[in-house]
Order: sequence, then C-alpha cells, then structure tokens
Amino acid sequence: MTSLRSILSLLAPATCELCSRPLVAGEGLLCADCQGSLTATVAFPPAADSPLRERLPRLGIIDRCGAMLTYRHDSPAAMLIRRGKYDNRPDIIRDLGHIWGERLDASGIMSDIDALQAVPMHLFKRLRRGYNQADVLAHAIGKACGKPVIHALGARRHGSQARNSASERLANASGIFYTTRPDAIAGQHIAIIDDIITTGATLSDAIRALANARPRAITVITLAAATL
Ligand SMILES: [Zn+2]
Repeated sequence: MTSLRSILSLLAPATCELCSRPLVAGEGLLCADCQGSLTATVAFPPAADSPLRERLPRLGIIDRCGAMLTYRHDSPAAMLIRRGKYDNRPDIIRDLGHIWGERLDASGIMSDIDALQAVPMHLFKRLRRGYNQADVLAHAIGKACGKPVIHALGARRHGSQARNSASERLANASGIFYTTRPDAIAGQHIAIIDDIITTGATLSDAIRALANARPRAITVITLAAATL
C-alpha cells in the first residue's frame, strides 16, 4: 500500500515509533531498546494453566491461550496498539504481528494449528476504520508462521465498545458472530486471533461461533492482554 507515510519515509530516515531515535539497519518499527522493552509478559501454557483461561468459555476444545504483551493503559505497548487501531496505522499492527508471529513460530506451538481466523468486524465499522486490526494481525502472524488465514466467521452488527463498561460489553457481545464457512472449520485446529483480550466477552462469542462448526481444537492468540 503506497501511503503518504511511505513516500515521506523515502525523504527522511525512519525513526523508532516509540522513542523517535533514528533506526539502524535491521530495525523495523522500533529500535532494539524499545523492542526489548516489549517483553512477553503473558505466557502461553496449555489453556488450563493460562491466566487468561477464566475470561474464556469453559470448552474442552480450547487448547491454548496466550498474549504477547500486557496492556496497561499508560504503557508503551498500549500506546502503540492504540495508534495501530485508531490512527489509521495498520503498519504498526502488522509489524507487531510479525514480531509475535516469529516468536510463536520459534516456540513450536503453531505446528499443530491448521489455520488462523481473525475476530471479524462488522462491514460498516471496517469501512469506517479502513481495516480490521485483528485481520491485519492474523495475516502478519500467518505469514511469519507459514499458516493460512481463513475468513469463516461473520459479524452481525457493529458498535464501538471502547466507551462501554465491562458489564455493558458482556451484554453487547452475545451472539454477534456466526459461521459463514463451517466447512473451513470442521475438523481443523483453528487459532482465533484478536488484538486485545479485555474481559474476553468478544473473543468468547467468536469462540462459541467457531465451536458450532466442530473444529478439532481452538487456540486463542492475542497481541495483548488487558489488566483487569
Ligand atoms: Zn525506541
């Protein structure tokens, strides 16, 4: 995608998205120091032991769940993800997804996964934002791990949940998603991908929709886990 940003980057040296230091060869979005500061703080154990497990439905089909970063409102990671979601910067989500995808691939946990599915976004919201950050993330992780991305879920209606309370989010999230291609899910180990897990209500709804199509297993992968 050619953007004003990519044209400008030809004229001025690229700088770190967090600290604005000029980047050197081999550095992408962030300088080495800032990338080092984004250490994985949420582990990726089997689902039963994951600290995120209690935010998800109690389905035996869930294999693993994990996140790369902890999302605290004032943290550098949170600032980056907000820019990636709300400031028309899918490149940030893509670059973070690439870092996460390489870590996932090296960990070996992706070897059993057949395909990736992003938590879908309703068409109106996607048109307004220009992209679904979860889908951008899924494609970046899929590319890094050599796994296909499927589009087998749809979203019924939209509504920004950013300003709602946790209980309103829970109420809003029931029954939003449905399967559009159950044949792509049945018998497969699907990794469901989202940018942030907060209460887990939205992801849980997507997981229930996936589970209706009888996958072999579901793994839950997010970029960040919000502290509750
Ligand atoms: Zn930096």
